[in-house]
Amino acid sequence: MPYERSNIAAMSGYMPGEQPAGDRLVKLNTNENPYPPCDAVMAVLRDFPAQRLRRYPSPTAAGFRQVAAAMHGLSPENVVPVNGGDELLRLVITTFVEPGRPIAMAEPSYSLYPVLAQIHGSPMVRIPLADDWSLPRDLAQQVLEAGAKLLFLVNPHAPSGALTDVAALAELAAALRNSAVLVVDEAYVDFVEPALKHDAVALVRRLDNVVLLRTMSKGYSLAGLRFGYGLGAASLIEPMLAKTRDSYNTDAIAQALAQAALMHRDAAARTWAAVRSERDGLTAALRQRGFNVPPSQSNFLLAAVPQKAGGGPADPPTARRIFESLKARQVYVRYFDQDRLRDKLRITIGTPAENAALLDALDAALKE
Ligand SMILES: *Cc1c(COP(=O)(O)O)cnc(C)c1O
Repeated sequence: MPYERSNIAAMSGYMPGEQPAGDRLVKLNTNENPYPPCDAVMAVLRDFPAQRLRRYPSPTAAGFRQVAAAMHGLSPENVVPVNGGDELLRLVITTFVEPGRPIAMAEPSYSLYPVLAQIHGSPMVRIPLADDWSLPRDLAQQVLEAGAKLLFLVNPHAPSGALTDVAALAELAAALRNSAVLVVDEAYVDFVEPALKHDAVALVRRLDNVVLLRTMSKGYSLAGLRFGYGLGAASLIEPMLAKTRDSYNTDAIAQALAQAALMHRDAAARTWAAVRSERDGLTAALRQRGFNVPPSQSNFLLAAVPQKAGGGPADPPTARRIFESLKARQVYVRYFDQDRLRDKLRITIGTPAENAALLDALDAALKE
């Protein structure tokens, strides 16, 4: 007899991207920053005092929260620290959704959302994005009609890189107010073109039903560290900070390194500029080879494989074949075997050398 809850027995779990070992391969499959964490962060790690390991850390990451709050023009009560952004996704479900009540997401999107809903015992309402990956006009209405308590949006969108502007998010959140919490997963927001002046933090000050997810994993080159944070109205953050979070959910080393990373944001920002510049170059190079690549505000591109001669869409297996062929050449990208994505590859922006290696391998694969 299985001892698991029936919903756990019935589910299959999150399938992470491959994490192959080895330094020789070109790893463009899980959206890591291709540049190392900054020197100031590495110095904190190197000089970390033994005494601070012996003792428990600040349970609420007080030092980090102060720095994060100042950076965003908020107060510490608007900030909840988490052991990687993924923990925040679980926390918002635990905190705001009665088990069994529906949760909504725009589709396609981060495949962890439905897994977390299954663990919670909640049905997932999947609302398709428009053809250009923008939000459907009746999104709020669909969420309300389904009776969902929570809506997950990732912005910039994964896996396309499309950006929804703050005015549209504000309108959506206002329509959901008093019914549902809007979670804007900003895992990739650091890579948005600065000239766009995109800043969703303003929503947190005006609306009591918006939670923003931030992570140190992508923008700050610290995916191995496991540290992220949520931003929201104090009334939304308080139950997560005081009740539903594990008592010491972030460790002393992660708190110190994350704090140093924010204090030296300028160094990280130089890597974002480099990624944006490579993003432009790689987009152009892929388009030149016949891929259809929508503009991305993130650190990855979603590239539809070239159409067949004569103008018809490529065979669905073509993208998978190219994916396998790249892998055989030690170049890892991501392939999603799901609707609307079977003819596409998601490619993380690498260093100039990595992107050149990708293009070489791609040229070879396309000739096969
Ligand atoms: C990477 C990512 C996160 C958070 O990742 P962590 O490493 O857990 O901080 C959240 N959402 C999306 C869409 C991501 O790609």
